[in-house]
Amino acid sequence: MSGDGTHVVHAGLPEPVPGQPFLPGPVFAAPYHLDPDAGPGLNGYGRPDNPTRRGLEAAVGSLEGGQVRAFASGQAAITALLLSVLRSGDTVVLPSDGYFPVRAFAEGTLRDLGVSTILAPTAGPRPALDGVRLVLIETPANPGLDVCDVRETADAAHAAGALLAVDNTTATPLGQRPLELGADLVVASGTKALTGHSDVLLGYVATNDDQLLDKITTWRTQTGGIPGAFDCWLAHRSLATLDLRLGRQTANAAAIAAMLRDRSDVTGVRWPGLPDDPSYEICARQMRRIPGVLSFDLGGADRVARFLKASALVFAATSFGGLHTSADRRAQWGDDTAEGFVRLSCGIEDTEDLIADLTVALDRS
Ligand SMILES: *Cc1c(COP(=O)(O)O)cnc(C)c1O
Repeated sequence: MSGDGTHVVHAGLPEPVPGQPFLPGPVFAAPYHLDPDAGPGLNGYGRPDNPTRRGLEAAVGSLEGGQVRAFASGQAAITALLLSVLRSGDTVVLPSDGYFPVRAFAEGTLRDLGVSTILAPTAGPRPALDGVRLVLIETPANPGLDVCDVRETADAAHAAGALLAVDNTTATPLGQRPLELGADLVVASGTKALTGHSDVLLGYVATNDDQLLDKITTWRTQTGGIPGAFDCWLAHRSLATLDLRLGRQTANAAAIAAMLRDRSDVTGVRWPGLPDDPSYEICARQMRRIPGVLSFDLGGADRVARFLKASALVFAATSFGGLHTSADRRAQWGDDTAEGFVRLSCGIEDTEDLIADLTVALDRS
């Protein structure tokens, strides 16, 4: 296997053809021409079949080490997984500290369909898994950055007859490959670091289990939550720089985490790359690189607002993993975090510029 930089540059590209582009442009088609004798072939209709989408799926599949189905958003992928695997009377285990719309979906739609939910903190303790059909973990968890051991959780889930799915959004497949660690399924939002330009919504499910892949594919074809061809093409184009982007984001996060930790006016600094962070040990063992996302507390909503206004480089924005450094006070979205809790997503700007800007903004806030 080649290095990460080489891998992402070549992932999912067709064989070179003279006169053709490296990455063919998006194919926009609802129906395609059919062969009047043979009928539908590889491309019959756009909902099940699109070559641009297949190219992206091949690329992400090679990174995750599995078969991939792309969806219109991370939530479309996660709900596709939950609704195609779970049936009335089943129990699902979800993170109590993970992406909160997933919990909201479980407490609304899933409950109404007769599916019970057990919420468990990412850092443990793990609940008893007897009678559980599916365990979904998010590691590192967004936004609190706790982690859990994927292999150990996979073993426990399998011993109880349950499936394990891992939300790999924050890590990206260059950060960890959950299928190799024993997970049955990966779900992720491609909206964040995977595509990284803050201009695409995307999601995917990955698996090596043909039956599960079949269920997911049928679900997507029948419910229709596909990403458009242009978004798939933008995403595939963006993948080529994933290694470079993550490298700079991680370096920026390391410098910023060290700076924040030395300040007495910033509390609760979390970054899994800090040796005394509660997530450090598992990350060091399980992850190939540490994400460029960190969190801290500025004490209250007012100070966060002053900090954001005083900064010239940090955009006030939700989402994370993009080229631009951004910060989000999660409580403004109804998340159950503290009023002054900030998730900072490090972009790819120069480290010295970010440190200087953040220092001034904190001093002035
Ligand atoms: C953003 C996010 C999602 C949802 O993805 P969308 O593309 O916004 O639908 C799911 N899981 C995690 C961990 C996320 O950060």
